[in-house]
Amino acid sequence: MRHDTHTHTLYSDGIGSVLENIQEAERKGLSLVAITDHSHYVLNGNFESYVREIGRWKGEAETVVLAGLEGNAVDGGVDVPEWAAKKLDFVIASVHEWVERPERYLELVREALMDEKVDVIGHFGASFPYAGFPSMEELEEILELAEENGKAFEISSAYRVPELEFIRECVKRGIKLTFASDAHRPSRVGDISWSEKVFRKAGGRKEDLLFEEFL
Ligand SMILES: [Zn+2]
Ligand SMILES: [Zn+2]
Repeated sequence: MRHDTHTHTLYSDGIGSVLENIQEAERKGLSLVAITDHSHYVLNGNFESYVREIGRWKGEAETVVLAGLEGNAVDGGVDVPEWAAKKLDFVIASVHEWVERPERYLELVREALMDEKVDVIGHFGASFPYAGFPSMEELEEILELAEENGKAFEISSAYRVPELEFIRECVKRGIKLTFASDAHRPSRVGDISWSEKVFRKAGGRKEDLLFEEFL
């Protein structure tokens, strides 16, 4: 079940190439690796060659390779346009805005959950603007929206979020999960042991993973 759905390359703020990330994934025996560079770099730069280069390794690599983008959760949803989303395997939406109020953070996530282009919510709870993770009661609406709209959450080993209780709740409700290193250098690709550990603790099984069919 080892896989990594969140890695960066030179196409945004990572320091390795697409191929280096894939090679590291192969070396670590991952069954799937995704390239998910930041939307604002790739969309303002070389989107076509990004998709082409990732696509080129799809047939050749020993591991399943997916082309994604890590979009920003902004007012109205994710900052990845429809035409771009169509050329990708999936889209992550992450809150990167520095917010002072927890309500604002949750509002951005709510909008992302209602955006058809979004598949996965990235590092949910990282930089949450108060001490501690919200309670399950406070998150009830978030969980319901994810369930209704068929959205997944990544379990981020880089930020160690979401909390175990939240992941347990996802498993209970059939909300899909993924393992994510958020690697910005090739050597960190596949560093998903925290994700694996809490997924197991939460009672997760293969069918609870978003890309189950490739694992
Ligand atoms: Zn991020
Ligand atoms: Zn990232």
